[in-house]
Amino acid sequence: MRDNPIKSTVDFDLNGVQHGFLKVPYSGDDSGWGAVMIPVTVVKNGEGPTALLTGANHGDEYEGPIALWGMTNELRADAVNGRVIMIPAMNYPAFKAGKRTSPIDGGNMNRVFPGDPNGNITQIIADYFSRTLLPMADYVIDIHSGGKTMEFLPFGAAHILDDKEQQARCVAAVDAFNAPYTLMLLEPDATHLYDTAAENQGKVFVSTELGGGGSASATSVKIAKRGIANVLMHAGILSGEPERGPSVNLDTMSSECFITSEHCGLIDMCNDLGTEVKEGDLIAVIHDAGRTGSAPVEYRSKVDGIFMGRHFPCLIKSGDFLAVIALTVE
Ligand code: CA
Repeated sequence: MRDNPIKSTVDFDLNGVQHGFLKVPYSGDDSGWGAVMIPVTVVKNGEGPTALLTGANHGDEYEGPIALWGMTNELRADAVNGRVIMIPAMNYPAFKAGKRTSPIDGGNMNRVFPGDPNGNITQIIADYFSRTLLPMADYVIDIHSGGKTMEFLPFGAAHILDDKEQQARCVAAVDAFNAPYTLMLLEPDATHLYDTAAENQGKVFVSTELGGGGSASATSVKIAKRGIANVLMHAGILSGEPERGPSVNLDTMSSECFITSEHCGLIDMCNDLGTEVKEGDLIAVIHDAGRTGSAPVEYRSKVDGIFMGRHFPCLIKSGDFLAVIALTVE
C-alpha cells in the first residue's frame, strides 16, 4: 500500500503546544496545485498516554468543533501528562460547507473506514486516521451530534465488543464522560465506522450524540467540554477528578428500538425527546402532504423506553429515520 499523501505541519513527537494543519493534496477547479488544510493542534508533555479528539466527522455537527476549538486555545502543555491531539473538524471540507458529507467527493467520513490512500479525499483522510493517527492513540473521543436531519438526547456511547476487557475500558471512559444519558449502542451498520477502526486497534473509544438540528446549544456544548475534560482526567492526561452528575443508562440493543418511516409527508410528533413511552404508545403521525382530508398514518413504539432521538425536519420521506426509543437499564 502506498504511503498516505497527507503531510502534517506539526511534529507529533515534540513537547509543547503546536498549531498547524494536515495538508491533503487536492487539485481542483479553484486551485490546481492546492491542498485541503485541516486544522490540528497537538499538546505534548512527556511520555504519558495519548488522546485523539475529533469533531465534525459529519460536517453539520457542531458540539465537537466548538468544544475542541476552544480547547486548542486553552490547553497548556504543563497541564498535560502525555499528549492530546485535537482535530476539531475531521471532515473539514464537509464542515466548511455545513454539510454531513464532503462537497468534494460526496464522502461520508463515517462510512469509508479504514479508508484508502489511493481513494478520494474523504478516503485519504480516513486512511491517515487509520494508519497514522489511531496507532499513536490510547484514548479516542469522537464527538457526534444529530446534524441537520436528526436530534438526540445528549448521550455518550460504547459498543458491545468481542474483547470484554476492552469493552470494560470503553464503558469506564464513557461513564467518565458522564453525559446526561449513557448508552450501549447497536449500530445499524458498523463495518466502515471510525469507531470500528479505533476499536479494532484496541483503543478506548468514546462516541457521543449530543443534540442535533444542525446547531448547538449552550447546554450541549457544555456537556461536550465537560465530558472531554472528564475522560482526559480519567485517562490521567489531565489532573483532577472527573466531575460527576446523574446519568441515565440506556441501550438500543433491539432493532425494535428503531422506527423507519415508510411514508412521505408531514410529521406530527406526539411527544418530545426524553418522554417515557410504553409499547403501543403513539410516537408520531404522518400526514400525506399532497392532499387534505386523508387520515394520517400512525407510528407506535414497539418497546417500553425513553424517546431518545427523532427525525429533525418536519417533512419526512420513506426510508428516513423517524425515531429511536431506548430501553432503560438498571
Ligand atoms: Ca454523526
